[in-house]
Amino acid sequence: MPIYEYRPVKAGCSYCGKGFDVLQKISEPLLQSCPRCGAGVRRVISSFSACVSGPSPESASLDGRLNDFESEGKWSHAAELADKAGLKERAMDDYKKAGYNF
Ligand SMILES: [Zn+2]
Repeated sequence: MPIYEYRPVKAGCSYCGKGFDVLQKISEPLLQSCPRCGAGVRRVISSFSACVSGPSPESASLDGRLNDFESEGKWSHAAELADKAGLKERAMDDYKKAGYNF
């Protein structure tokens, strides 16, 4: 879920005055006003969310672990990991190398 940063359009209260962050689903509509004082707010692109939108550390380490398994010839481990991560093609590939027949 992305974090959206909002700033008041004019003067806000102590909550929204300096900007505030809200965790929202992408499907949720953007806030139009401060939930506390009702002042009009607009969304700003925060440096934080811009910074985490790149490859996440999680997927980087997953890739690293897959590469480790594959370079060590642990195909069934790699296949299982790829399978859990939803990398179907890579999983199939690794399963085949592990000796499984489909
Ligand atoms: Zn406010």
